[in-house]
Amino acid sequence: MKRFFKVSILLLFLLRTAYAQQNTPHISGKVDISVKEGIIKCDLSLTKLPALGKQYKILLYRGFNIGLFRNDTGKVLKYSGFYDDKLLGEAAAYMPYLGKDTLALPQNLRISYTGAFPVYSDTLNSFDFKGMIAFNGKTVRAAEQSKWYPVIYDVKNDRELLDVTYDINVTCNDCKTIYLNGSPAQSGPAAQFKSVIPRQLLLFAGEYKIQNLKNSMFLNADLSPDEAAVFNADITGIASFYQNYLQTSYGERITFLQHQAIEPFGPKRSWGFVTFPTIAVAGKPFKSEINMQTGAFVNNYSYYFYAHEMGHYYFGHLLEPNSKLKWFFLESMAEFLSIKATENKYGKDATLKYIAERKTMMKDWKIKPLSQITNPDQIGESYRYHYAPMILMAMEKRFGSKIVQSFCRSLIKNAGQDTNYAFFVKTAQSAGISDAKWKAFEAEVINNTDCKNIFDYL
Ligand SMILES: [Zn+2]
Repeated sequence: MKRFFKVSILLLFLLRTAYAQQNTPHISGKVDISVKEGIIKCDLSLTKLPALGKQYKILLYRGFNIGLFRNDTGKVLKYSGFYDDKLLGEAAAYMPYLGKDTLALPQNLRISYTGAFPVYSDTLNSFDFKGMIAFNGKTVRAAEQSKWYPVIYDVKNDRELLDVTYDINVTCNDCKTIYLNGSPAQSGPAAQFKSVIPRQLLLFAGEYKIQNLKNSMFLNADLSPDEAAVFNADITGIASFYQNYLQTSYGERITFLQHQAIEPFGPKRSWGFVTFPTIAVAGKPFKSEINMQTGAFVNNYSYYFYAHEMGHYYFGHLLEPNSKLKWFFLESMAEFLSIKATENKYGKDATLKYIAERKTMMKDWKIKPLSQITNPDQIGESYRYHYAPMILMAMEKRFGSKIVQSFCRSLIKNAGQDTNYAFFVKTAQSAGISDAKWKAFEAEVINNTDCKNIFDYL
């Protein structure tokens, strides 16, 4: 049975990879960077673009100037989006056209563009986030969310095709090390990066060193080998808990990236984000998370933090949330997994303490119920990170941990559907919750608008 299971997981993974590759754009070409000057110049070809007809947009970070849009014969194309257009998140949206009509998305396109960015080396900015292209004088960090590379937006399915296979040459004369997500970091000033596995492109280049371990790689981290080993052991523990809980293998060797954000973080305030297989952290250095005396993380907050980030392998990477409940399926699910992982390591008391802290935090909070969300951004940060995980905890309390575990597994298995409320309900019911029981739960728990009431059900 076990063997069969392993084989089918492997098969599933291979099929998934093969499917993903067929439907994934490929990017090749050249990227030139100056970390000191804050400049990025790209000349990139996009091939294997899907047949989306005219239902697409080409997204590119708002701070880039387009040089040329060209088709595969080299012909220079006209494009809309330059004048009086709306931004889509961090990006401007472009569409090439021919004559007066929008061009159906061709299979191949070539786009050149240049951007000059502020270098925050002394006075820092008032904000930083994953959608920024961040130069701090020593490194540049650009994640997929910024759309520093052209990203096709599939209008009909409301999907950004962030995952790409790639063959890209990066040149950076003032870089010691260059990293492109999913490939080993390489020494500068020039490096060729290739991946046949679709990846979201996180670029991190500059003055920093690489530490390679058996199950992970650390960038810019400055850990002693012993510290790195301790870190690695806790991370491996979280991964194996998830593999067991979700019955889906943790198929990645993780890159841990320490960076200095362009907004002040640390010593107590930190920020993490994930672009699989990279977990990036600013503020608290990895080194400060380790207690060499106990041979573990310094406390369970660090454990929650890394367990949350690692949970994004499942909710974020395997299941890529979209639609109205995007933030719930991305952040609340990852947070819920981190509660389970931490309980597995530190016991039930950790969870009780966690819930008690949330109760104090939310005594005056009001929310719009998940069933009534009409726009993803109605699930704000406090809602997605703090309140909504409590709904999952209440679900567990009412229906039992086996049912919720099966709900989580089923979500992963059904990745690819719109992650809206109907998907939530359908999956809960497929996990064994009857219609009548769900309706009662919905009325009592989900449709609550006063956050404090949920603690009566925990
Ligand atoms: Zn998260």
